[in-house]
Amino acid sequence: MGNRNHLKPVRDNFLVFGSPAIGEDEIDEVVSCLRSGWLGTGPRVAQFERDFAAYKLVDNTHVAAVNSCTAALHISMIAAGIGPGDEVITTPMTFCATVNAIIHSGATPVLADIDPLTLNISPEMIEAVITPHTRAILPVHFAGRPCEMDAIMTIADKHGLKVIEDCAHAIETEYKGKKAGTIGDFGCFSFYITKNIVTGEGGMVLARNLKDIERMKILALHGMSKDAWNRFSDAGYKHYQVVECGFKYNMMDLQAAIGIHQMKRIKSYRERREEIWSLYMDKLSGLPVTLPAPVNEDQVHAFHLFTLQIDDNECGISRDEFLSGMTEQNIGIGVHYMSIPEHIYYQDRFGWRPEDFPNAMKIGRQTVSIPLSAALTDTDVENVITAAKNLL
Ligand SMILES: *Cc1c(COP(=O)(O)O)cnc(C)c1O
Repeated sequence: MGNRNHLKPVRDNFLVFGSPAIGEDEIDEVVSCLRSGWLGTGPRVAQFERDFAAYKLVDNTHVAAVNSCTAALHISMIAAGIGPGDEVITTPMTFCATVNAIIHSGATPVLADIDPLTLNISPEMIEAVITPHTRAILPVHFAGRPCEMDAIMTIADKHGLKVIEDCAHAIETEYKGKKAGTIGDFGCFSFYITKNIVTGEGGMVLARNLKDIERMKILALHGMSKDAWNRFSDAGYKHYQVVECGFKYNMMDLQAAIGIHQMKRIKSYRERREEIWSLYMDKLSGLPVTLPAPVNEDQVHAFHLFTLQIDDNECGISRDEFLSGMTEQNIGIGVHYMSIPEHIYYQDRFGWRPEDFPNAMKIGRQTVSIPLSAALTDTDVENVITAAKNLL
């Protein structure tokens, strides 16, 4: 390991982490959208909503396209009636947007540590932090592996809590035959560039209750009583009323133009990621790293992230040295995630310390995500494996 600073690249160009697979159909559709003169929320968004609802086996009146998963989480909080004085339980092993959405609603986030094997929020830990102020649970299906939803729903029923699923990693995820995002009261999805299906920026919210989704559509467009599609359709001008103080969270047709073609390849993309996943499991199995836990028989994993845990005692190299070693070799990597209490803002505001959530802290300090995208060629995958082996 003495020559760690002098590693040669395993390839000429840098392999960008999480680069999406974009087809000619997306490009053509974006061009026709531009030529149509209708760039904003319109027929392509409506199409994307119908396609997504069909994929999730829900009626299309129960979904709303928005401009991010963060927006979806935020308006789910509001529709769930969550506000100041309320507590929402979530995981310390997530992207900051999950926790920020709770804070933006005025509620207080409460963390429950993860199961070190699945990296998902632990139902026992949830029970341990419930108080009379708890109003909701916000589980994150980490890396695409479903949370223990039976246990979580039982806890929610027992305490009268709402469940908002953060499905940013979990578009294809299923738990015991149920699709992620349809198990709790709300499901929030992301189509950010690194996610399994992309629209550039984009999101979708799915609600069990029709009243909730109707309110969210209003919240997502300034609080206006009729959305722009209805207002500007060829049915003629309609006056609108502002019925509450909403947000600017609507998706554009330009974004949906990408999404409707991505949705057609959702199955083949997942198959390709599963293939890469299996290759990594096979080729990296002899190394002194912890690989992802096996996938349960009664679950569909979305294969969003492939994580390695680098324990410097066993690897002779720290996680951060591994990160720079991969970068030096022209392989892009990611960290998902440093645990939420590692960030200064949450420490200052809530007094959280990483040590209070030891499983998330340990994983957060050891984890590395290696590329797992349908866009990867066999050579790309080989390069990643070679680069990792060079370091370990
Ligand atoms: C990406 C991500 C989000 C935010 O998604 P955006 O669409 O970028 O707002 C939220 N939660 C998790 C777990 C994520 O990975």
